[in-house]
Order: sequence, then structure tokens, then C-alpha cells
Amino acid sequence: MANPNSNSTPAPRTRGELIVPFPSDTTPDTELFALIDQEVQRQVSGLQLIASENFTSPAVMRAVGSALTNKYAEGYPGKRYYGGNAVIDEVEALAIDRVKRLFGADHANVQPHSGANANMCAYQAILQPGDTVLGLSLDHGGHLTHGSPVNASGKLYHFVAYKVTPGDERIDMDQVRDLALANRPKLIVAGTTSYPRRLDPAAFKAIADEVGALFMFDAAHIAGLIAGDAHPNPVPYADIVTFTTHKTLRGPRGGCILSKAEHAAAIDKAVFPGWQGGPLEHVIAGKAVAFFEALQPEFKVYAQQIVRNASALAEALVQQGFRLVSGGTDNHMMVVDLRQFDAELTGKEAQIVLDSGGVTLNKNTIPDDPRSPFVTSGVRIGTPGVTTQGMREPQMVQIAELIARILRQRNDTAAVAAARAEVAALCGQFPAYA
Ligand SMILES: *Cc1c(COP(=O)(O)O)cnc(C)c1O
Repeated sequence: MANPNSNSTPAPRTRGELIVPFPSDTTPDTELFALIDQEVQRQVSGLQLIASENFTSPAVMRAVGSALTNKYAEGYPGKRYYGGNAVIDEVEALAIDRVKRLFGADHANVQPHSGANANMCAYQAILQPGDTVLGLSLDHGGHLTHGSPVNASGKLYHFVAYKVTPGDERIDMDQVRDLALANRPKLIVAGTTSYPRRLDPAAFKAIADEVGALFMFDAAHIAGLIAGDAHPNPVPYADIVTFTTHKTLRGPRGGCILSKAEHAAAIDKAVFPGWQGGPLEHVIAGKAVAFFEALQPEFKVYAQQIVRNASALAEALVQQGFRLVSGGTDNHMMVVDLRQFDAELTGKEAQIVLDSGGVTLNKNTIPDDPRSPFVTSGVRIGTPGVTTQGMREPQMVQIAELIARILRQRNDTAAVAAARAEVAALCGQFPAYA
């Protein structure tokens, strides 16, 4: 596969590319494109284990890098504020049609620029400032946009947090119900950013119905698992489902909102003109490609392999002496409590030393972490990226061994460098891009 990101040599112009001279034709921007080449090199020569990242396809990148970036299209297909949108309307309608088919939704808005935007738009569609909302606590696996005081969601709405139980470190549905009965929220939000277990959309829906609340499911991390039948689909149960298109779904960076027909008009109004201006139609084209790819039978195989790889990696990490939050995983990620492996080792230090060994992941709080969110006692690890590269269970065992070795020998520069060479050799056998 040709490297779709290598732009250091200007490619011959093809249809759709302008032939007027641009300053960068005569004076190529070697500075910027050298940086892109460096970043591609970093991505392919190390292990990318950040649970929210993936490798998108050359077809998605081609759409995102297209002339669609030039077009203003405020409004929606058939109802635009500017002329010249006949083709753009078809592009956006294609994305909408495909994502509705993929998840079985009544209505879809594909314009949110990101997952955070999608959530703020969804709240604005159905809430008034000051309304009470139930969401998972950030330090127990929730997202900033689920009511963190530093985020607009926490400033505009009155969020009440539910948590995981101290015993099994899983979401306690009895506690969710008790809080719902005590606080009578207008909305219950389910959805997680660092939680390794399955969510039960039907159980959340039952509680929402009991207290007369609306139910929103934020599927940012697991949209690809849902699309590939590796996680229960919340769409039949939830009034609104938001998600990002760039995590397990493997599309371009962006957001999307699905809803029941009764919320369609309010959702569309909240996205535009509520929160956003002109939609990023080149990114919407990339989303259409990602939805097309996710509709193919191979995507189910991919999604299920992500989960199998995560289970294999979790088991191998336990063999290496790590404790996993909740004891394991049933999705694409795991949260590792480092304290049992080494009481002195923080998430921050682990992230830095693993990065120098070519293993990229992120520090993460564990439930009720005694250390601050900038230091942490844990790391989060995900398998969507390495699974895209074609790695399987035997490579997961190798990865666990490399992680443990780098952390044990973190003060031995030569040992870390040797591990880094092994990481590069492993990644060389499974190149994401040529
Ligand atoms: C990643 C994530 C988001 C935000 O997505 P961005 O595109 O980074 O804004 C929202 N909710 C959850 C649960 C997430 O994991």
C-alpha cells in the first residue's frame, strides 16, 4: 500500500485538483510535510495502544483530503443557506443513510465536529440550563462532557454522578436507580471513556422509564464494537445515541448523533444554528466512507478480533503480575492498576518510560485513585489500533511481556533501547501503512 500521507514530493495533479499556481508549488512547504512524514513514521514504528485511537483507511483520508473542504453548506441537505450544494447534499445524505442503516436509527445528524460537540448539542436539544442529569463520575470512567465541573456540561447543567462499586469496580445499577429516584433527573447518561466492561442499555432504559427521564447513550468508544455486533446496540433503547467516528469505528476525527424521530428537529436545530456554523463536508465524506466500511461483513470480524485481542492482552498482563481494574475486560480496553506490580510506579512515569520504549499508551486514574489525575496509579490500554494492523492473540502475549520488561527495567537505558528495537521489529511485521 502506498503511504497515503507522504506528501513531501508533490504528486502529479489529478482531476479535481486546481491547476492555478499556488505559492507552495514553487516553494514547497518542506517544513510541514517533513513533520507529517515524521509522525507517520512514529505511528508505524511503535505500538499504538491508546484505547481511543485507531488507523483510518486510505479511502477515508482521501475523502478528508478532498476539495469538499472548500464548500460552505450551512443547513441540511435540501435546506442550505448557500447555493452550489447539489453534490454536497448527496454526500451528506449518503452519510446519513449509511449510518442509519448501520445502527438501525430513525434519525442521524452527521455534522458534529467532535464527540464533545455531539454531547453538548444533544443536551441543548432536550435540556434547559440547570436541569438535573445523571452521569458516570469522571474518575470512575466517565467523560468530561458528562458533567465535569471544568467542562461546559458541568457549568450549564446540574449533573449528579454515579460511580462504580468499590468491590467489583463495575457500574452499580442499584445505585443508579437510587440516585434517579432521589434526584428525579430529566436525563440519564450512560457511556464511558475508561471502563472495561459491557454496559446494559436495557437496564438504564428501565430506570429512566421508572423516573420519567430521557435516556442518552454516549457510545464514543464502542461505536465500532456496536457496529460489528461485539457489544449490545443501545439504539433501540435510547432517546439519543452520540458517538465519535474515529475510535473503534475507525473513521475520520468527528462526531455523530442518532435519535428517535421525535427528537430529530430539536437535534438538528441544536447542531446548527445552535452550536456550529458551516459543517466540515470533507470530514462528513470521510464519515460516509467509514460507515460504508463498517457495513461490510469484514468489519464484524475486525470488531470481534478487537475484543479477543483485549481479552488475550488482559490475561497476559495478569500473568506478568499486573492487577486489572474490575479484574479484566469485555470490550476493547483495560485499565491497569500499577500498584500491585510496583508500588512506587505511577501512571505518569509508566507512560513516559513506555513511550521511550516505543509503546504509546496513556496514564489513567483508577477508581478512587490516591494520586492526582496528572500522576495517577494506572494506565489505560486498548487494542483497536494493533488489531487494524492485523495483530492477534500471540502478539498480545508478546506486547504484555514487552510492557512488563520495559517497566521492570525502566532505569536501564540499554534495556529500554533493546525493547524499543523489538517493538519496531514487531510493528514492522504488521505495518499499518507502507
Ligand atoms: C472520546 C469521548 C468523547 C469526546 O470525543 P472528542 O471527539 O474527543 O470530543 C465523548 N464521550 C466519550 C465517552 C468519549 O470517550
